Amino acid sequence: MFSAWQVGKLFGIPVYVHWSCLLLVVLALGGAWEQSSLPHVLASAALVPAIFTCVLLHEFGHCLTARAYGIRTRDITLCALGGVARLEGLGKRPWEELFVALAGPAVNVAIAFVLTLVFLPFGMGLVPRELNGETTGNLAGSFVLTLLAANLLLGFFNLLPAFPMDGGRVLRSLLQVRLGRLRATELAARIGLVLAVLIPILGPAGWYLLSGEIQFMPILVFVALFVAYAGQRELWAVRRVEEERARQEEEEAIPEVLPVEVAAPTPSRNGTE
Ligand SMILES: [Zn+2]
Repeated sequence: MFSAWQVGKLFGIPVYVHWSCLLLVVLALGGAWEQSSLPHVLASAALVPAIFTCVLLHEFGHCLTARAYGIRTRDITLCALGGVARLEGLGKRPWEELFVALAGPAVNVAIAFVLTLVFLPFGMGLVPRELNGETTGNLAGSFVLTLLAANLLLGFFNLLPAFPMDGGRVLRSLLQVRLGRLRATELAARIGLVLAVLIPILGPAGWYLLSGEIQFMPILVFVALFVAYAGQRELWAVRRVEEERARQEEEEAIPEVLPVEVAAPTPSRNGTE
């Protein structure tokens, strides 16, 4: 795979890291450097691999659930926007796609629960704002709290019904029960497009409500573009498969008709039959 390096193989699935992940390490280091304290810089730099490990576990949640339904995974790639697991199918029944989609965010919620237990000793009598101190305990507490928040964000953001994100797949699988795969995908992709437009607006709006600060979030623009592109591409692929299936069913439904030779009476040269 061009522009991504294979870093290992887990459960028989090759894991790749895209070069864009390096950008995040640089950004994290740069952001921490402004605080001009080595422990801060190290804690911030360590957050990047820690968050990506959680993203990887999220992807394995999808892949191992898919494996239980006999669906193989070609590979997993980690990139700056998150992780992508390439599954070789969607499952035969809608609920298979539903459980495969839910398994990823469920992993993040489980990690967040464990981190809450880990954070409790740090959090005793402290509010997050007080965790900015330079002591090792405060830095470790801040690290755990940030990782906890990142997992909650990963879990719930992916559950937005923006097809082909996990929540969009959940929506498609539920719609599919009544509408069939093509109609369900068309509807889910349309909702996904609307959300793709809203994501870069709702992100900063939510941040403003929480913190009172106005912050432009360029990463959400990339996420929105990815959602819009990937959703339309998958819709196109489903359309093609369904058209092919319809064509095959049509061919099977029409019994093969042998050409019937019609011997039209032709005037003979000598005028006799
Ligand atoms: Zn996912």
